[in-house]
Parts: sequence; C-alpha cells; structure tokens
Amino acid sequence: MSTLVVVGVQWGDEGKGKIVHLLGHQADWVVRYQGGNNAGHTVIFDNKHFVLHLIPSGILQPGTQCLIGNGVVVDPEALHEEVRFLEKRNVHVRGRLHVSDAAHVILAYHRYLDCLREDRAGGGKIGTTRRGIGPAYSDKVGRNGIRIADYLNPSVFRPLLERNLREKAPLLKRFGSLSKIRRDVLKSYPALKRFLQPLVTDGPHLVYRAMEKRKKILFESAQGTMLDVDFGTYPYVTSSNPVAGGVCIGSGLAPNRLDEVLGVVKAYTTRVGEGPFPTELKDSLGEALRRRGMEYGATTGRPRRCGWFDAVAVRSAVRINGCQWLALTKLDVLEGTHPLRIAVAYRVGNKRLKEFPNDRQMQAEAEPVYEEMPGFHGSIRGMKRYAQLPANARAYVRRLEQLVGAPFAMISLGRSREETIILDSKFPWKP
Ligand code: GDP
Repeated sequence: MSTLVVVGVQWGDEGKGKIVHLLGHQADWVVRYQGGNNAGHTVIFDNKHFVLHLIPSGILQPGTQCLIGNGVVVDPEALHEEVRFLEKRNVHVRGRLHVSDAAHVILAYHRYLDCLREDRAGGGKIGTTRRGIGPAYSDKVGRNGIRIADYLNPSVFRPLLERNLREKAPLLKRFGSLSKIRRDVLKSYPALKRFLQPLVTDGPHLVYRAMEKRKKILFESAQGTMLDVDFGTYPYVTSSNPVAGGVCIGSGLAPNRLDEVLGVVKAYTTRVGEGPFPTELKDSLGEALRRRGMEYGATTGRPRRCGWFDAVAVRSAVRINGCQWLALTKLDVLEGTHPLRIAVAYRVGNKRLKEFPNDRQMQAEAEPVYEEMPGFHGSIRGMKRYAQLPANARAYVRRLEQLVGAPFAMISLGRSREETIILDSKFPWKP
C-alpha cells in the first residue's frame, strides 16, 4: 500500500501531529492538502517541542520529503518564519520542502479583511485565527486569487495586486490608505520571492511521479471533519475541505490511488472557536479536561471548549472519510473520570436523531442522549500493551469502536511517540 490519509474526525486538535510523526518515518513524502497557517500541529521530537503551522510535520523526519499542495493557502511571510524557526533548531529544510505553484497566497490585505469580518460580526463571529485564510479562499473561489506562480512573476503579480487593491479599497480604509496597504503587501516582496523560488514545483506532477515510483505518500489534514466547509457545522467551519476527499482536490492525487484512511480521534471532544458543540461541558469537569489535556490552541493559545465523546459526530465523520482505521488519542486524560459518558444520539424537540443533522438550528438545539460507563483509575501512561489497560478502559475503547464503526489501530496515552499502544490489526502502516 502506498498512500495513506491521516484525517481528523472531530473538530480538529485530535493529536494528528503526533500520529503523523509516528507514521511519517515510513513515508517518502508527507503532503499537506488544505488549510493555511491557522493550523497548529504539536510534535514532541528529541525532547524538543515543535508547533508546525504550515509545513507538514514530516519535515521532522530527516529522510522525508514534504509538499505543501495546491489546496493550501500560503502566507509567504509565515512560511519564511516557519522555515527559519526549524532551521534554528537544526531541522534541515532546504531541498526537502516543496510548494505547489498552484497554491494561493495570503497577502496583508487578506489578514486585514479577516480581522474586519470578525470584528464586525458581533455575535455571528466564526472564531477565526485572523490570519487571512478565509479571505484568501474567498478570493480563490471568486477567481480573484493570486497563485504562487503569479506571485513569482512580477508582470502577472503587479496588475493582479492592483485590481484586488482597487476592488477591496472601500473595505480596507480602516487600515490606512491604499498606498500604505500596497506598501504592506510589497514590504518584503523581493526577499520573499527569492526565498520561495527554489521551493516551488508542479505539485500534482510531483505527486504523480512519486506514485509512479511506488513511493509511500502520507497526506496530512489540518483541522477536522466537523470543521469541513461542506460537511462540518457550517458556517462555523474552516474554509477548506479537511475530509479525505479533499486530498484529490488539494494535491492532485487521482481518487483511485487513495489506499488507506486513518481517522484520528480524541477519547473526548474539544472544539475551539464558536459554533455548535452538543456534548460541551460548561462545568468543572470541562475545566478539568482542559487542564489535564492542556487544551489550549497551538496557534492562538485560546482555551478549547471540552466535552464528552460524541459518537454521532464521529460516526458520520468515519463514513464521510471512509476511515478503515482509527487512532485514539488522549485516553490518559480520562484517568480518574467517573462515570464516562458517550453521546449515542441527539434529542431535538421530540425527535431522536441518530445522524448528525445538517440543519444549523437542529445542530444548535441538539441535546445529547448519553450512555454511561464506569471510569478507570490509576495511571495508564506507560502501558505498552492493550491487555495492560484497566478493564474499564478497554470496555470504553471497545464501545467507542462499536459505536463509530471502525477499528482502532493504535491508542495514544501521552505526548511522546513511546506512549502509544499499537493494536494487533491489519493496518499496513504499522509504526
Ligand atoms: P493536531 O492539530 O491534531 O495535531 O492537535 P494539536 O497538536 O493541536 O493537539 C494535540 C495536543 O495533544 C498536543 O499538545 C499533543 O502533544 C498532545 N497529545 C497528542 N496525543 C496525546 C495523548 O495521547 N495524550 C496526551 N496527554 N497528549 C497528547
């Protein structure tokens, strides 16, 4: 088997960074296919703490090549900063990082527009990271976007920039005159262009060539399925398609070349930003999960909202992604929590729903129907084998599997790669 998608099946922050890092050493290529520097993957490597926003976490594996696919929106300044951050920590990036020339760029005005939209939205805020990702995707779909190939060619870039500035001028007034905004965009243009040039490649062609050579390719999602612009809790979603189907659009991989899909899922639920979250715990237990799980955004430091495992949402995500396998993370955070609850359905008015609704009012009103299980006590962190887990922890894991409809290939019990139980399964990318 040569291609694997690692996808979040909740609202993001499932611990994908650790899982990609765990599996990435077998990959010849690690590819990001959507999102921007709003993502934040935390990886503990060589006892150092890395937070990667844009660069695939495969970059921490010395033998692995990395591609930022055409489906990603790239802020050249942010990418430059991230490369410098890695190089300062002796991670060799040059010659290993490639960026698709069809990816769109985020420019200063996208960041301004993001802030404007969030500030004006009042109660209707999405809770974005204000890094310009949404406005850059809007320009892409609105056919006003600027791709990396355009950015690198001044005779194409300058007229496109002028057209965009003129069009957005009325909205951008608050941030200064048009010439000030133009200066903001062009401030580091020559240096950024020099930096980007050697990284840029024909992404789909590169993926195709890697496939032809039977290389192993791992596709890494950012955010999660419940934040997908089509399948998530719209409009409280990200502007791209984290789902496995997004791989083909965001990298150029042909759909019939996708072999394995591994969903990453936390043993409870978190969500950052606004929007429906049926199993949210607004009490001291929610706070305890946040504290124990260190649930603060890797990109913004914002506290994450915490709640019980939502089997309705995860089951729907497992189906949409076609997950043949799951990786369960953060089971250790539930140590000492008793009882454990799992949402198995929702109640909306007098209806009982077994499927996640698309209707935003239903999503907001959904009351979880819980099943209760006994909790487990004592530390499970150093455990290496499934059989060592307390019986109640094993029962919880098995019940989750049954409810969501896919088997666990591994269970993560801590932040480092050693703190992982590999289950006896046919998962072909064994760590
Ligand atoms: P991602 O965006 O899906 O990669 O998730 P984040 O990196 O934002 O959040 C996951 C956080 O949980 C990181 O700080 C990880 O180091 C940490 N983490 C991952 N797996 C485990 C685990 O099994 N147990 C604990 N306690 N922490 C974990």
